[in-house]
Amino acid sequence: MSPARPLPRDDLRALDGYHSPQVDVDVRLNTNESPYAPPRAFVERWLDALRDVEWNRYPDRAASALGVALGAFLGQSSERLLCGNGSNEILQTLLLTYGGAGRNALMFEPTYALHAQIARATGTSVVAGDRRADYTIDPEDAVAVIRRERPSVVFVCSPNNPTGTVETRDTVERLARAVADAGAVLVVDEAYGEFSPHSALDLVADDLPLAVVRTYSKVWSLAGLRLGYAVAPAWMVAELEKVLLPYNLSVPTQLAGTIALDFAAEMEQRVASLVEERGRLFAALAATDGIEVCPSGANFLMFRVAGDAHELWKRLLAHDVLVRDFSSWPRIEGCLRVTVGTSEENDAFLAALGETLPEVVR
Ligand code: PMP
Repeated sequence: MSPARPLPRDDLRALDGYHSPQVDVDVRLNTNESPYAPPRAFVERWLDALRDVEWNRYPDRAASALGVALGAFLGQSSERLLCGNGSNEILQTLLLTYGGAGRNALMFEPTYALHAQIARATGTSVVAGDRRADYTIDPEDAVAVIRRERPSVVFVCSPNNPTGTVETRDTVERLARAVADAGAVLVVDEAYGEFSPHSALDLVADDLPLAVVRTYSKVWSLAGLRLGYAVAPAWMVAELEKVLLPYNLSVPTQLAGTIALDFAAEMEQRVASLVEERGRLFAALAATDGIEVCPSGANFLMFRVAGDAHELWKRLLAHDVLVRDFSSWPRIEGCLRVTVGTSEENDAFLAALGETLPEVVR
């Protein structure tokens, strides 16, 4: 008789994995990656640097060179920086440190699914706050929920994935004050911050429990690398460091993150092109009957379909265009999300949409 399989923790039984199909198609506009490869000169410099590495040694545990370079780039002290394998690892570290059994995390739905997923995986209960009809957070409502639910961690995703919504500075400031009064931590997820008109980075201060989380995955064209970071008060970074696994960042990751910063001009140029393409795509979608598109400060656009959105997703796929299907998500029923790609990819998407939409619109 084979032994019984060990059971996972009781509170993990209902957990579902992360679902975003990786399908091999011509036009891949489903995961908000950069459509551009990183500059060739960056790759060459990185490969050159890798030749001289002492591979038998562990990496610098403090990732000092990366911290100093990134701090200088952001105008922040390196003591305020914590780097991880993608911003997901940073979010997990924040929840392991400030969430956990008997604690709540508050997020405003619909938002990035992994905030709730990682919260649950760390034993943190999830409280879902609402948004207004335009998907912005109502600060008065949010402050009331914080006072009532007493969360330990509050997430604000701005620009918000999947809606693209950018919160005003006033909303973020009011939430930060309410969170500070509640003795909690405010996490502003700015995975798409560089595409947006403003950032919460300059709100980070020694006396505010605020962590702004960013990533190299989107604007730096380095999703394959896995590098993200938090900018937070030094005392918070010191707490997070206790929880992070030692030597978490490999030597190649530390080197790439440092060298990439020398290519900031190329990165900014790519962001500018994508913002321009976003404007073009937005205008085209806004002018399409049967589509209602959300304003976005990110490198993607969410739109509602006056018809069978899942069927549209399937038909776009049959035209070799993969977008993200949110059609059965609560609060955004009937919606799809398209990542802004190169102008050729965006044209291919619009052409496929032009052919398939009339087949599904009611
Ligand atoms: N936050 C948000 C809002 C995201 O959309 C993503 C990526 N989809 C991440 C964090 C995670 O990014 P990464 O782990 O690649 O840095």
